[in-house]
Parts: sequence; C-alpha cells; structure tokens
Amino acid sequence: MKTLNGSCVCGEVEFRVEDQFAYAGYCHCSLCRKASGAAGTAIGGIANTHFTVTKGKHRINYYKRSKETVSAFCSICGSTLFGEKPLLGMVHIRYGALDHTPSLLPQAHMHVSSKADWYEISDSLPQFSEFPVI
Ligand SMILES: [Zn+2]
Ligand SMILES: [Zn+2]
Repeated sequence: MKTLNGSCVCGEVEFRVEDQFAYAGYCHCSLCRKASGAAGTAIGGIANTHFTVTKGKHRINYYKRSKETVSAFCSICGSTLFGEKPLLGMVHIRYGALDHTPSLLPQAHMHVSSKADWYEISDSLPQFSEFPVI
C-alpha cells in the first residue's frame, strides 16, 4: 500500500496517510479561508483508520470549529494539518500539508456559495454551492 507523509512548517508534527482518498476537492468555506489565510484549501477525505500521526502528537492543538469538525494544527508553527470528522469517521487532510502528491487530485470546488469575491475559479472542475452529497 502506498503511503503519503505530511508535516507542518516547523517539522514538529508529522503524519502518514494511505494513498486511498475517498474524495478530494477545493473548499471555499469561510472557516477554511480564515484558518488558512488563503482563498481556500485543497482537502482529501479518508477514513480515520487510514491515518496516523507519526510524530509530535503532543504538539497538536485541536479546535472544535463546528458541530462536525475538529481542526488540528501545530501548536508551534500554526500550520493547519487536518480536520477530524468524528460523526463520519473521516479525516480531511489538508493537501498542502502533504509531502507527496496523492493519486486522487481535487475533483471539484465545494462551498462555492461562500467563496471570497476576490478569488476567481478559473478551471473547469464542477462547482457545488455547499458540500456535495457523497
Ligand atoms: Zn509545526
Ligand atoms: Zn471549508
């Protein structure tokens, strides 16, 4: 099984994930925008059984940002790494935190209804106003 490594900016936190993402896309919701400071984030969803923190577990801070999502970030450098979806048993990995290219590339744009006005989507991937039903 191919695995992918991920890490934060300072290198204190590392994780490993199997290259078996169930879905992937660009999220334009306001929470992802604020958390990343960017137009949006590329995320991939994977069952939490396929995901392990391999270094610096004690460096991770968690923030319950909504009923469905607990965001995980490095307490040293602030990198946002992944979001836990306990109700679904999934983890949303920030593709930007990966050190390798996953097999499943982003397939769509999500939460386009809350996209920043100053950001224009210029590719031809499908767009969903909220999170698509999967
Ligand atoms: Zn860090
Ligand atoms: Zn989002």
